[in-house]
Amino acid sequence: MLVVMKSDADRETVQSVCNAIKSMGLNPNPIPGKLRTAIGITGNIGPVDPSCLTALPGVVEVIRVTRPFKLVNREMKPDDTVIQINGVTIGGPDIVVIAGPCSVESREQTLSLAEQLKPLGANILRGGAFKPRTSPYAFQGLGEEGLQILAEAHERNNLPVISEALSTGDVPLVEKYVDIIQIGARNMQNYALLRKAGMSKRPVMLKRGIAATLEEFLLAAEYIMAEGNPNVILCERGVRTFADYSRFTLDLSIVPEIKRLSHLPILVDPSHAAGKRDLVIPLARAAIAAGADGVMVEVHENPSQAKSDGAQSLTVDMFAKLMEEIRIITPAVRRETARV
Ligand code: PEP
Ligand code: MN
Repeated sequence: MLVVMKSDADRETVQSVCNAIKSMGLNPNPIPGKLRTAIGITGNIGPVDPSCLTALPGVVEVIRVTRPFKLVNREMKPDDTVIQINGVTIGGPDIVVIAGPCSVESREQTLSLAEQLKPLGANILRGGAFKPRTSPYAFQGLGEEGLQILAEAHERNNLPVISEALSTGDVPLVEKYVDIIQIGARNMQNYALLRKAGMSKRPVMLKRGIAATLEEFLLAAEYIMAEGNPNVILCERGVRTFADYSRFTLDLSIVPEIKRLSHLPILVDPSHAAGKRDLVIPLARAAIAAGADGVMVEVHENPSQAKSDGAQSLTVDMFAKLMEEIRIITPAVRRETARV
C-alpha cells in the first residue's frame, strides 16, 4: 500500500499520517519525491483497509500495491490448478464440455438427453434441481428428486454431474448426489453459501455475478478456498451492460486476465450470456480461442417445451455441431478434447 501525499503537505502532516499508520500496527516508510512525499506501508500480513487513510489531512490517494486475494493468486501458486472428477480433468490440457438441460424436468428427459450427449462428446452433465428464477411463480426445480435423477444419469452413462446449491441448506443434499456443486451468478456474493461450499469435499463451480468486478469474483473464490476447499472452478457467464440484443454481455476479456492473476481454471457459459441459441456456438468458439478451459452449454431435446431457458437451449443437433467446431479449434490453441 502506498499513501500519496498532497504536494503542499508539510512535515508535520506527513508525520501525523505516519503516526496513524503506526497506530494500525504497520510500518510507514516515507519516500520524499521532488513534488510530493509518498509513504510506503510494510509489515501487513493481510490486506490493509485503505478507508482509514484516505480521509486523513494531506492524503491525495491510497494505492494498493499487492492484491487483496491470496489463495487464488497465481503469485502464491504459479502452477495451474488441475481438478480431477471421475476421470474428467478440468484446468489441464483438455477442453471440458459441460452440457445438459437448464432444469432437470423429468427422469425421462434427463436420462434420454444424457444418453445422447455423452457419445457426442459431453464430459459432464448439467441440470438444475434448485432453480434461481426471477419470478417466484416460475418453475423452481424438482429439488431432491432432480438430484436423484442426475445421480442415476451419472451411473448409467459414467458421466459426472453438476447442479446448483441455492442456499446453505441445499449443500449437504447437492454434495450427496452430484460431483460438482454449482454456485450461481445471483449467489456469487452469498458469503455464508461460499463458506459452506468451502467446507465441502466436492469441487465447486463459481459463476460470476452479473455485475461483479474481476476482483470481487476472485475474492468470492477466495472465500471458498479459505475454508479449505482448493478445488474451485470459475465460470464467466456474462455481465449486465447496455447491449440489449443479448441477455447479458459475455466478457471474454476476463478469461486471459483470470489466467494471468489466478491459477484456478475458468470455464465460459455462453448460453446464459447469449439468451438465444443462435449466439451460443459462435460465443463458445470465441471462449475456447480466448483460452477458457472449457464451456458449459444448455441443451434440450425440445427447447420450445423447456420449463426454463428454452430460448437459449441448443438442440441436440446443434450440440453435435458445436462439438465438431470445438474439435477444430482445440488443436489451434494447443489444447485437447477428451476422446469419446
Ligand atoms: C445456471 O447455470 O443454471 C444458471 C442459473 O446460471 P446463472 O447462475 O449464471 O444465471
Ligand atoms: Mn438456465
